[in-house]
Amino acid sequence: MIEIHFLGGCAEVGKMGMLIDTGTEKFLWEFGFNVQTKEGPIEPSINLDAMFVSHAHMDHSGLLPKIYSMGYNGPTYCAPATADIMEILHRDSIKIQVREGEPLDFTKRDLKRFENSIMFLRPGETEEFTQSTVSFFNAGHIPGGVMMLLESQDKRILFTGDTKLIDTQLMEAGDTDFSNIDVLISESTYSYMNHPDRKMLEDSLKRIVNETVHGGGICLIPAFAVGRTQEILMVLADLDVPIWVDGMGRKVTDAILKHPESTKDHKKLKLAFSKARKILRQGDRDKALERPGVIITTAGMLNGGPVVYYISRLFEREDCALVMTGFQVPGTAGRNLLDTGEFVNEEQELSVKPKMKMEFLDFSAHTDKSHLIDFYKKVKPKKIIVMHGENTEEFAAELREMGFDAEAPANGDKIEIV
Ligand SMILES: [Zn+2]
Ligand SMILES: [Zn+2]
Repeated sequence: MIEIHFLGGCAEVGKMGMLIDTGTEKFLWEFGFNVQTKEGPIEPSINLDAMFVSHAHMDHSGLLPKIYSMGYNGPTYCAPATADIMEILHRDSIKIQVREGEPLDFTKRDLKRFENSIMFLRPGETEEFTQSTVSFFNAGHIPGGVMMLLESQDKRILFTGDTKLIDTQLMEAGDTDFSNIDVLISESTYSYMNHPDRKMLEDSLKRIVNETVHGGGICLIPAFAVGRTQEILMVLADLDVPIWVDGMGRKVTDAILKHPESTKDHKKLKLAFSKARKILRQGDRDKALERPGVIITTAGMLNGGPVVYYISRLFEREDCALVMTGFQVPGTAGRNLLDTGEFVNEEQELSVKPKMKMEFLDFSAHTDKSHLIDFYKKVKPKKIIVMHGENTEEFAAELREMGFDAEAPANGDKIEIV
């Protein structure tokens, strides 16, 4: 019998954590911000045999170092690009907690121990344990992102991680060639909608950039540091416009470029990034604001970072544009701006109604409803468990109507596979 304990990420996007107990081994799959550990079965973490993480996003990897502070000493398996991106994100999360005066989730020493315990497993590779094996496959989501397959006691359990099942500029589509899957644990971020045609989105972005820059304005593109900054760089690679990159996206692109295997077209990304001008200090920001061009910068949801400065300088300019390229979580400055037309940043005491042209383009790195369902039809798993989504119960019910055996567990639930 195999037990899966759902620690987080059920009926919510993020906070992922699963404890897999094969009877012989205990594995932790993901441990992200902010899984609750108090009552969960994770306390005896010293008994874990191994930890695995599908990709570097903090909702999957954020609290892994904390497990080391609880006495765990074993390995954490991930793809090489994931390790390098996590290094940047984890250090940044400590910095933010120190700055905000919050208690630290883990110390730099715990982080070092975590980093020293990382074992690389690449897509197509398998690690063997006493009774089970775990294999990695491409997830198509962000560089380093994998799906994980556990084989144990004649059962095959596949976890999609976060996945994108069509090609993007940055990534090849996730793998879909699986058979004899007993349990498919699937992300379902976009179980309720389909994304617009990708080519159309790319054309829209190029059109807005061309119109703005050739009209004498600046096109400000807030973008997540991991995945989105690089995707936007590649979409705009063929345009003849000056492009600046600011914020953490710069560092993350350097980390991704160390791993040519982690992207679809390493050469193109390398060229696009080498052509872009890097913003290293405040003076560069003012330089970027002097003439027409594109500025790609964090934070993707406008909650801080250099984007706030740019908005404070550009908000009155009707010849400029602000293009949001990712989902804006309710409560963020970006969502507030989309909903009310007002940009608020308390730290900078800024509250303005930008006159810039505003656009939202859904460059999501998650697969959508129709591609999820196509995937299930192709793989034909005996059971589907949906998580990492806000509408998991509705989605599971819909899948059952289509003839799948599907369920949506709640955090704290345990599923037994016999
Ligand atoms: Zn996620
Ligand atoms: Zn993710």
